[in-house]
Amino acid sequence: MRTLPMKRKLTENLKRVEQRIADACRRVDRAPSSVTLVAVTKYVSLDIIRTLVDMGVQHIGESRVQELTRRAAMVNEWLGRRARDLSAGARPRPQWHMIGHLQRNKVKAVLPWIDMVHSVDSLRLAEEIDAQSARLDRKTPILLQVNSAGEGSKYGVAVAAVTHLAEQIHSLGHIELRGMMAMAPWTEDQSLIRQVFGRTRELFDEVVQEGVCGPEFRELSLGMSSDFECAIEFGATYVRIGSALFEGIELARTTSES
Ligand SMILES: *Cc1c(COP(=O)(O)O)cnc(C)c1O
Repeated sequence: MRTLPMKRKLTENLKRVEQRIADACRRVDRAPSSVTLVAVTKYVSLDIIRTLVDMGVQHIGESRVQELTRRAAMVNEWLGRRARDLSAGARPRPQWHMIGHLQRNKVKAVLPWIDMVHSVDSLRLAEEIDAQSARLDRKTPILLQVNSAGEGSKYGVAVAAVTHLAEQIHSLGHIELRGMMAMAPWTEDQSLIRQVFGRTRELFDEVVQEGVCGPEFRELSLGMSSDFECAIEFGATYVRIGSALFEGIELARTTSES
């Protein structure tokens, strides 16, 4: 009966995070429904992911291609089995968000499992997602990852290149450019975090005002466990939260991966 305390703790943590999101929204006069929680599961076992889905979490974020593919397949299989067991109650398939760096040569294998890519940072990557989406006869929602932190951050499009790149990506037929993603640097310095979020928001508004993208350009993926309340203040519509959901839970990833 090891799973019972895990489930109780996870329920508590999820409630607390949802409450903090709602409170942060209220402080800046936003509707809590305008922020989507993406549960980042890269640290945890499949067992914990299933429990999250069972609790009604509908958005899962993974940062590595292989993990995302394997886990999405396993969760789908579990949901399929579960759908045949009428006493268990059906759960919808969660949406899978690719939030980590994505290499072009991995796109083909992982794309069928992905509902949204947060980490598009070059035209070449966007073109590959476009080509593979065409093969799947679908449009893939993506976000442009922006390097608002400047030096010290490896990934993301340079601030000066964002508008032009957004325009180019917008012209691709099998991609839906929904908005932007950014990460604050690893720091205790709140003013630096605010500066990075503020710059991201400005850029986002600029792209909207220049009219280079369509009305679907309206999402801002900003904020993790340590800074999501601040991100909501700056307009985040997706918050990517991992560790705050798993506090006090044993994360042994090697157990029950089936
Ligand atoms: C791991 C990760 C997160 C979640 O981080 P926490 O601090 O655990 O909430 C969010 N975004 C990205 C891109 C990540 O890699």
